[in-house]
Amino acid sequence: MPYEGEFAGYRPLNRIAQAERVKQLLSRAVVSVPQDAIVTLAVNAAPVVNEGLPELAVAIDGSYSEVPVANGYPGAHVGYVTVASVLLKLSDLERLDEDRPIDPVEFRKTEQAATVDAALPGSNVLTRDHRSAKDSFREALFDVLHDEQIDADDSAVLLDTFQYLLRFKPTSSPQQCPIEGCERSFVVEGKIVDCPCQARRRIYPTDALRVHERFSDYGANGEVFGLVMQVWERLLLVHFLRCFEQRRLFEPLSRLVFFVDGPLAVFGPPAWMSAAISRELKRLNGLVREQCGKDLLIVGVEKSGAFVEHFNTVDEPNHEGSQRFGPRTYSLLTDSYIKERIAPSDSSRRYGQDTYFGRKFFYKTASGARIVASLPFLSDERDSIVTDDIGPYREFGTVCAVLDQLVSSRYSNALSPIVSAHSHAAIPLHLGSKVLQQLAQALMRKSV
Ligand SMILES: [Zn+2]
Repeated sequence: MPYEGEFAGYRPLNRIAQAERVKQLLSRAVVSVPQDAIVTLAVNAAPVVNEGLPELAVAIDGSYSEVPVANGYPGAHVGYVTVASVLLKLSDLERLDEDRPIDPVEFRKTEQAATVDAALPGSNVLTRDHRSAKDSFREALFDVLHDEQIDADDSAVLLDTFQYLLRFKPTSSPQQCPIEGCERSFVVEGKIVDCPCQARRRIYPTDALRVHERFSDYGANGEVFGLVMQVWERLLLVHFLRCFEQRRLFEPLSRLVFFVDGPLAVFGPPAWMSAAISRELKRLNGLVREQCGKDLLIVGVEKSGAFVEHFNTVDEPNHEGSQRFGPRTYSLLTDSYIKERIAPSDSSRRYGQDTYFGRKFFYKTASGARIVASLPFLSDERDSIVTDDIGPYREFGTVCAVLDQLVSSRYSNALSPIVSAHSHAAIPLHLGSKVLQQLAQALMRKSV
C-alpha cells in the first residue's frame, strides 16, 4: 500500500489508464460521437455594424494564491486575493501589440495598483479574539467589503453594493449559523447582528455568501479564495455600473465595454448572487436604453474549461466535417446543444439555471482566434437559451467587432484587455483611485 497522497504522484499516469478497473469504467462510459449528434451547431456570419464602436474597455480580472505564513502554528496559510481593473483605449491597441513584450518592472507596479487587494486568513490563522481560523476569515471577508472604497470621490463602498444585492436573496431557505456548534438557522441580514443563540456571536452580512462553509481550519483553502475572487470580480462590475447610475452618466456608460474574466455566472455557495446580479443588470440596462437607446456592453471571456475545449475540438480542421468556423462567424449555444455535446444532462431545468446571468457563444474573430464568451441577459426577453436567434442581442455585431479589434495578435485566442489585466496593465491607463472621474474625463474628451 502506498502512503496517503503518494499514489497519484508516484505511479505513471499511463499505468493508471491501463488499470483493469479504469478500462472497465471507460467501456461503460458513453462517448460523444459527432456523427450521431442530433443537435448541431449553427454557424452564422456575424452581423456587420455601421455605428461607432465603444472607445474604452474596462477589464476586470482577479487572481488568488494561498501562501504559508510563520505564526507559530503548523500549516498556517493566508490567502492573497486581488482583483484588478484596467482601462484601455481601443484606438491604442494596435500600438500596444507592437510594443510587447512588456517590462517586468511595469508589470509589478500594476500588481500593486489592483482595485481590490487583500490578504485573508487561511488555515490556522487566528486574528483578534476569534476562536477559529474560520471566524477570522469571516470577519476579514466582511472588513474588505466594508473598507473598500473603489472611487476616492465616492463614499460608496463595495459593501453597499453587496447589501443591495443581498436584498434579492431568496429567504425561503434559511442558512445554518456559521458559528461552530450552533444549530440555529436564520436568514442573514444586511447588517451585523448577534447570533440568536446564547453565544451571541457576530453574524456578518457577508456570511450570506456561505463561502465559509467550504473553509477548512486546518487544510488547503484554494477553493475558498477562488470563490472570494469570483464574488469580488462580479461585485466590482455591478458596483461600477451603479456608480455611473448614481451620477447619471448614462451616455458615457454606453460608450464603454466591460470585460469580465470567466463566464457571466456565480458558482458554488454564493450562486444566489447570480439571480440578484441579473435582476440589477436588467434594471440598469433599462435605464441606459431609455436614456441613450443602446444596451450595456458586458462580455465574459473564458480562457479555459469545457466550453473552450469543445470549441477547439469542433473547430479542428481534421475533425469530422472539417473546419467549421470561418473568420467573423459565431454560434450562440442553445440549451439542447450544451446538454447533448458539452455538459451531458437530461434535466428539464435549463443549463446553468441557478448560476448563469448570461449566455455563451463561440466566436471566431477576423484574425481566426477562437473566443468563448458570454453576454448578459439584460432583459426578460433575452433571459432564455432555447433558440440561437441573436435578434434580442442588439449589441451582438458591436461585440463581435470589438472582439476582432481586441484579440491579441501575439497571444493566440486571448483578448488584449484580459491579457492586460494579467500582465500588460501598466501600458494602458490603470484605473486609479478616482475611477469615475478618470473614466468620465476620458470619455468626455473629443477624441480618445
Ligand atoms: Zn448561533
